[in-house]
Amino acid sequence: MSSGDGWTTCAAGHRHWGRFGAAGLLLIDDDRVVLQHRAPWTHQGDTWGIPGGARDSHEDAVAAALREAREEADLSPADVAPIGLYIDDHDGWSYTTVIARTTRTVRPRAANAESVTVRWHAAADVAGLRLHPGFAASWARLRDVPPPLFLVVSDAAAADPLLEQLRQTGVETSRLPAGLVGGGLTRLLPRVVYAGSRAAGAAASYASQGQVVLAVEPEDLKLLA
Ligand SMILES: [Zn+2]
Repeated sequence: MSSGDGWTTCAAGHRHWGRFGAAGLLLIDDDRVVLQHRAPWTHQGDTWGIPGGARDSHEDAVAAALREAREEADLSPADVAPIGLYIDDHDGWSYTTVIARTTRTVRPRAANAESVTVRWHAAADVAGLRLHPGFAASWARLRDVPPPLFLVVSDAAAADPLLEQLRQTGVETSRLPAGLVGGGLTRLLPRVVYAGSRAAGAAASYASQGQVVLAVEPEDLKLLA
């Protein structure tokens, strides 16, 4: 039994699993997503959702989602790159969906008794499945996935402690500079690129792979936090 296992009640009076909230992993690859057919005996079972579960007291949402994805779907953290979070905040309890892209070909499988099947689905087919109610309520936002965010930093910005905070908790999508998009997500988790004195050139070269924020001075990081 983990420290987070147990029921709690949010401000709206719902009962939720996970004393410290819960988290799950939505893994995407082009136009496909990994879904878990939940075992009939689980809470709101015999539905399709994502691998996930209760957070432990010491765990952030990304750590919890990656742990659950390994336990339930045999997904290795080394094969996935988190790009953002969607936080369904109920005041007193929250469910964080960690959206991630694959970094290589992965073959998920049902790895414990909580799953009947874990497999890839075409994103276009998801709405037609019998979905877990929480996942169903979030799906319209979750499928609106923005391009990945690159945070290109010079030496001066790299030395600022705020950088580590942004790397861990991400950038709230409402704080993104004009012209950048957050899709349906709450926060984007940037990939930090250390570029020293060549930050401007590096920023230009990453523009073809996603969205780019260039931080030359610590003040540029403050605008994101
Ligand atoms: Zn609630």
